[in-house]
Amino acid sequence: MMKLRLNTSVEIKDVLQNVPTPTLVRIPIQKKHKPIVKKKQIVGRGQVVAENPSTSAYGIGFVHSSIDGIVEDVLPDAIVVGPIPAPKEGEEAVVPARPEPCAELDSLANEELCRKLLELGIDTSRFHASRALIINGLNPEPGVLVSEQLVRDAQDTLKAGLQILERAIKPGTVKLVVASGKQISLHGCTTVNASDVYPATIDPLVVHAATGSERPDNVDVISISALYRVGLVATTKLPLMEAAVTVGGKVYRVPTGMPVQDLLNAAGVEQGPEWKLALNGPMRGEALSDLSVGIPENCTAVTLVRDGLYPSVQPNPCINCGECVLVCPARIQPGMISRYAEFNIFESTRSQHVEACLECGMCTFVCPANRPVMQYLLLAKKQLTAQDEAVSTCRLQD
Ligand code: SF4
Ligand code: SF4
Repeated sequence: MMKLRLNTSVEIKDVLQNVPTPTLVRIPIQKKHKPIVKKKQIVGRGQVVAENPSTSAYGIGFVHSSIDGIVEDVLPDAIVVGPIPAPKEGEEAVVPARPEPCAELDSLANEELCRKLLELGIDTSRFHASRALIINGLNPEPGVLVSEQLVRDAQDTLKAGLQILERAIKPGTVKLVVASGKQISLHGCTTVNASDVYPATIDPLVVHAATGSERPDNVDVISISALYRVGLVATTKLPLMEAAVTVGGKVYRVPTGMPVQDLLNAAGVEQGPEWKLALNGPMRGEALSDLSVGIPENCTAVTLVRDGLYPSVQPNPCINCGECVLVCPARIQPGMISRYAEFNIFESTRSQHVEACLECGMCTFVCPANRPVMQYLLLAKKQLTAQDEAVSTCRLQD
């Protein structure tokens, strides 16, 4: 079996790439979002199409249209915006209303600024006032170049993001974690060098590298991609409407909701049935079967893997070899937990500390039986969360 190279740092050769504006976007929304547009409604670029109904300053951001267009469909997981039909003879062409830049961004601070950022599309769930802030500047997974590309090419945007965060959450200290051997600085951050060998690049291990502690109090971590999104809003004063996405060794600025197929076409990637695709990286990404899916705002990559390059995972029996235990950074027993989950004994996964799983995918990667080890653990986590929610709902009703 050919092994994936687990070093994530690479020499970046190209600049950030632009793509043509798509004529149709399928903008992902989450369960918690409340759509506020209807079918056949004309929307302008930047107009809100779904809100977070909570009034809190902290949570998932509002969702905005990334193109001028007409709402073609409102689905449970996406809002589809397509081209506005040409006007009939004698009628004037419709000019969609676009939002004005948000001047308040310059004067707001603290919680009010966090709320405004949320309304402009920023996920503020991880924002907390007066904590130490760690910026994860390591590429998230092998083959996903987005962090190093942004640090190299988007310094002004990242600086603007940091400046607005300084007003919004007033972090005590700010550390930027970059790959060992890289001399990178960013607007007054203390630079910390760390291993770029996956899974050392995932947030909990980056926090450990930056603080020396496994679960330090009062520390928040955000990725360079997340900081870039804040910086985009800070510099344009407009809602968030794009993602920075790695495809085939280059990083593209992609309008939110652009169909994956359109992005692959723009990137000149000719993929056929011999290719498997995933949203995000090869270790933690989500397999893609439908290329009409729209790019979410937090997407970092579209990964292509030639079919047959790696053995596909199957619900094969565990041979109890212990390989997964040796690589697990959470120091739990993935093999045993995966077996409990496989046979629906979810309560036993709790006592085996399934919640400590960092979702790095290393157990699946090394498993000689090609079991979907991490996927079993994810299933167990989901089941336990659902059980806990059901119990708390019952208590509320009592
Ligand atoms: S995904 Fe697997 S290897 Fe990674 S932390 Fe979870 S159990 Fe451990
Ligand atoms: S690596 Fe695979 S076969 Fe080996 S113990 Fe873990 S789950 Fe079982």
